[in-house]
Amino acid sequence: MNLTVPPQRYRSTIDGPIRAAVPQVIGKALTDEGEIAMSVCKEQHRYSELFADLPPSQAGSGRHKCAGCAYNRGIEDGLAQKEHIDLDLDGLPDSQAGNVRHQSPHAAWAMGYLEGVRRSYK
Ligand SMILES: [Zn+2]
Repeated sequence: MNLTVPPQRYRSTIDGPIRAAVPQVIGKALTDEGEIAMSVCKEQHRYSELFADLPPSQAGSGRHKCAGCAYNRGIEDGLAQKEHIDLDLDGLPDSQAGNVRHQSPHAAWAMGYLEGVRRSYK
């Protein structure tokens, strides 16, 4: 059998699709080197008034997590009427900007969950 060694910059044809899918699965972006990067939210929801009145989260888990992204995950979970909840805050992007800065991602998720459940009945 004649084995060949792939060139140094070789990438398999399935490498691209896997790299594209992984961030959606674990909620974090991959760098070109395939390392998990600390993702920072760039969505406009960071400036939504919806999150201005959430309780502050200055300490503990979720302190730097994007409340807007937590809200969106809550909507998805509410639409699915999930009965077993895993907030997985570590999988959410960080945010240091706008109205989501230091706002409770737990409260944002719960607000989104209620909205998702409401929409699920329409
Ligand atoms: Zn966000």
